[in-house]
Amino acid sequence: MRVLIVGAGPTGLTAAVEVKRRGIEVEVIDKREEGSGLSRAVGITPESLSRLTASGVTEKLLAEGIHFQEARIHRRATLLLKLPFKVSKAKYSHEFILGLPQDRTETILRETLESDGVKVRYATELKDLREDGDGVIAVMADGAEERVDYILGADGIHSRCREVMGLEYLGYDLPETWSIADVNAQNWPTPRSFTICQFARGGVVVVAPLATDRYRVISNRRDALHNLPIEMEVTKINREGTFTISIRQVPEYRKGRVFLAGDAAHCHSPVGGRGMNLGIADAAEFARRLAEDDLAGYSAARHAEGAKVIRGSERVRKIVTSRSPVMRRLFRWALGIVSIAPPLQRRIAAIMLYG
Ligand SMILES: Cc1cc2nc3c(=O)[nH]c(=O)nc-3n(C[C@H](O)[C@H](O)[C@H](O)COP(=O)(O)OP(=O)(O)OC[C@H]3O[C@@H](n4cnc5c(N)ncnc54)[C@H](O)[C@@H]3O)c2cc1C
Repeated sequence: MRVLIVGAGPTGLTAAVEVKRRGIEVEVIDKREEGSGLSRAVGITPESLSRLTASGVTEKLLAEGIHFQEARIHRRATLLLKLPFKVSKAKYSHEFILGLPQDRTETILRETLESDGVKVRYATELKDLREDGDGVIAVMADGAEERVDYILGADGIHSRCREVMGLEYLGYDLPETWSIADVNAQNWPTPRSFTICQFARGGVVVVAPLATDRYRVISNRRDALHNLPIEMEVTKINREGTFTISIRQVPEYRKGRVFLAGDAAHCHSPVGGRGMNLGIADAAEFARRLAEDDLAGYSAARHAEGAKVIRGSERVRKIVTSRSPVMRRLFRWALGIVSIAPPLQRRIAAIMLYG
């Protein structure tokens, strides 16, 4: 059996590592010239760490990453709630969120794959697909064709696989422009915490550590750094930019011999930090089902999981970024109750860790 994976982001690389680990022949193509250097997803969840343990990836991630200990929620600079990532009942062996820039996660996955004998074929763009009896043919942008048993489209938010499959990407786009900065800074008071600061009219800014003295600052307004109400001694701005957000999901994750996973199948806001982790879970499930000859249930199971994550992420985004003064007052009141109720804190920590 031969599988072609389109896209070498975290989803495609996880799928390749997990498929190859089970002794199945796998090829990975990506239209980029080389791996991405972007630090997009910061938080790796306990579920992802558990899924990547058998391949040895988790051990390497743990050696480099930062163990996030807590989330801190502020109204401007005033701390309203300190929420330790502590749960009542452990579900996985690593009960914390691991902080690591996405490009490092991808590099570790790619090196693991290479040590298993599979090299990503960069500068190779998929253009078309056609089914052929008991196989599927991938047509590349340069006209070359490749026949395999299955294709996994892990080609991101603008997926060509999804387009060729004729699948709609149902949902909506948020009107506001978000901003992001990747900076080096010294003396930040909470280098192992997610810091969330609400400010006027539904504004929110989040700081997440990427490495020692390196931070990601993200806001639902333009100029994340300018919006940060707590002083940050920035020594270098590595990257600054803006982005918009779509909340979308495909109705089916499969058409014949072609499957979708990751952002090709779903996208949502970075609130909750689930995007990459959901892609890793799709990929690991695809590999398991492929090896166990159980692909029939893939689409329904992953669609249900994706829909659940999108619902949860949207619920939190709407609360945290609400412009309604009543809602914001209610939110502060609820935080006050949570701050004196450890069982509630553990319940919320479990939601943040496990979804
Ligand atoms: C600012 C920002 C912050 C984020 N923060 C978080 C976070 O904290 N936690 C979290 O879990 N998620 C986060 N995310 C989301 C996360 O980055 C994505 O969910 C994740 O990158 C999706 O991985 P993927 O492999 O599915 O797609 P991608 O990473 O987009 O990879 C797709 C790959 O497919 C390749 N490709 C595309 N078309 C073709 C083609 N036709 N032929 C061949 N190759 C092709 C592309 O070159 C690319 O390398 C964030 C996203 C953004 C933008």
